[in-house]
Amino acid sequence: QSFENFKLNKQLLEAVKEAGYTKPTPIQEKTIPLALGGQDILGIAQTGTGKTAAYVLPLLMKAKYAQGEHARALILAPTRELVIQIEQAILDLGKYTDLRYVCLYGGIGPTPQIEKIREGVDIIIATPGRFMDIYSKGEIFVRNIKTMVMDEADKMMDMGFMPQIRSILEVIPVKRQNMLFSATFSERVEGISHEFLEFPERIEI
Ligand code: AMP
Repeated sequence: QSFENFKLNKQLLEAVKEAGYTKPTPIQEKTIPLALGGQDILGIAQTGTGKTAAYVLPLLMKAKYAQGEHARALILAPTRELVIQIEQAILDLGKYTDLRYVCLYGGIGPTPQIEKIREGVDIIIATPGRFMDIYSKGEIFVRNIKTMVMDEADKMMDMGFMPQIRSILEVIPVKRQNMLFSATFSERVEGISHEFLEFPERIEI
């Protein structure tokens, strides 16, 4: 398998090459074609498997061609550290796209984050708590969100983010693509997948 086999545009393929990825990892091989096809995904994969690029590449591809001036994709992650890691992947793989993003997490004041949103963003990468804080201030227009990713969903549940995640899912459009990644599979993960995913393709590596 090679990245050229996927229906990615040349801006993304060039960035993949420059990142030094010579061939897709197993999770990427399985996730990328399904995600590009619009399927909901339940991915069971640990850090180090290439799971970030597995959802970031399809998401960058979709966000590029979707219409609208407000955020079209939302990535939720449990911690500031993971948000920053995802940002790095978007910086690397999205370097030849003109997509704009914002990172929302706690521990710092919300003002610079709100200012960045006001300048216009295509992708939001956020911890659930800070997302809801800023949303409650009326600063996030959510009606154009078409893709939603939950990274390290098991950890988000462990950290008690379910109420915020449920609130987010109540305000974003019902018609959207969902990708949920978790390092482990458990009854809880199965529960959350029934709640949030529609006919998901389960990918386990
Ligand atoms: P992740 O599992 O998403 O945290 O990724 C782990 C590391 O693997 C990151 O440093 C990525 O840049 C790198 N990586 C992701 N996909 C590939 C690939 N296809 N080939 C080589 N390295 C990769």
